[in-house]
Amino acid sequence: CFSLGVMVTMNQRLEADTLLLVADEFGYKIEFSDADLEDSETEEIVDSEEDLVPRAPIVTVMGHVDHGKTSLLDYVRKTNVIAGESGGITQHIGAYNVKLENGQRITFLDTPGHEAFTAMRARGAQITDIAIIVIAADDDVMPQTKEAISHAQAAGVPMIIALNKVDKPNANPDNIRQQLSGMNILVEEWGGNVQSQEISAKFGNNVDLLLEKVLLQAELLELKANPDRNAQGVVIEASLDKGRGYVSTMLVQSGTLRVGDYVLAGKNHGKVKAMLDERGKNLAEAGPSIPVTILGLDGAPTAGDKFKVYEDESEAKSIANKREQLQRELSIRTKKHTTLEELGRRIALGDFKELNIILKGDVDGSVEALSDQLQRLSTAEINVNILHKGVGPITESDVNLAAASDAIIIGFNVRAGGNARELADREEIEIRTYSVIYAAIEEVKEAMEGMLSPEI
Ligand code: GDP
Repeated sequence: CFSLGVMVTMNQRLEADTLLLVADEFGYKIEFSDADLEDSETEEIVDSEEDLVPRAPIVTVMGHVDHGKTSLLDYVRKTNVIAGESGGITQHIGAYNVKLENGQRITFLDTPGHEAFTAMRARGAQITDIAIIVIAADDDVMPQTKEAISHAQAAGVPMIIALNKVDKPNANPDNIRQQLSGMNILVEEWGGNVQSQEISAKFGNNVDLLLEKVLLQAELLELKANPDRNAQGVVIEASLDKGRGYVSTMLVQSGTLRVGDYVLAGKNHGKVKAMLDERGKNLAEAGPSIPVTILGLDGAPTAGDKFKVYEDESEAKSIANKREQLQRELSIRTKKHTTLEELGRRIALGDFKELNIILKGDVDGSVEALSDQLQRLSTAEINVNILHKGVGPITESDVNLAAASDAIIIGFNVRAGGNARELADREEIEIRTYSVIYAAIEEVKEAMEGMLSPEI
């Protein structure tokens, strides 16, 4: 381990990658059983097909600033009152569930933007089924629009394009369709397979049609879950409330969560004392795709933490302790993410098929040129995949995407901002910057061939 540059003690757990490297060094092969050390306790129980019932899609709204994300979320929230639910949505709990005229339901994550989306993914929680990309038709496809699209694509989440602000006299939705097609995103009207809808979020025009398209997409995804088991899901947000103690919003992914259940969420645990929906109404139970606020945990778990119900309180507590111990160990552990230096070795070992790259540069021309040439380095064994490319400095959002998708970041004549650099250090994301295209290509090529000499 030491000669590999992995500083560990005897009491530390090694990652699969490190184990493979060490075994290889001594001419051994490793077979992994499915008893994954970190996650054995959160292992998925496989449901049989007949236990599964349809569940509501979970939707995130993303797009450039001021293009109308909040207006869309607000409009949907408001109109739901008309759909005959008792009471309007009064609480911000991080997500809300609406019932449409036809009785079908959609859950919206109430924190718009790809930052929250990808931060969750970086923590291993992918909860979004469908992304609505809001683009103002009186503007252009903007940098954050591109980012949002890249982030959705990297997550494999289908997109629906909402062409917003079409009420404005200078709105030109065709211009947006044109720009999208230039990014290889063809909307249905143009013969592609990405659904889109012209809307006016501010006035609510055609939002109902947009929601129908969401449901259509959901149908294609055949979203299902088993409500008849102990609940598990993801923490959306959590805080300490003066009067009520710790409140956490949970999104149930499968099973049914009930008052009285014993819940483990991240490192926190406790019995569900009360459960409330986004209307402030007390609930006795919540099934798949339903967000609820619960009271009763012994602390505030982190957004993106998984939660699960345990029959046995002592089991839940012992797992909470184990997690805390693991986290202490992990905080001193070795590299988590891909680096160019270790690339050659991993390719040689055959456990590496795809090199994900996020590419940022000072001008569009060089970003495109570099992107083209990098993709051409793909071989039969390894595919070079440009997850996201854009003009501008390397941002926190880029680092989060890299962490969520195990990518390296390449900057061409641009640098990482202070916050991005700190985050990259913490997440152990490799950022390489170049000022000569040729040098970048050479280095990635050498790395793929396992010939890159270590940085001094
Ligand atoms: P966000 O930053 O993407 O959340 O954008 P907002 O929802 O805050 O909207 C930014 C501005 O655009 C606000 O002043 C909205 O009133 C306005 N806006 C949003 N949707 C529409 C629309 O459909 N038509 C018009 N005319 N204005 C809109």
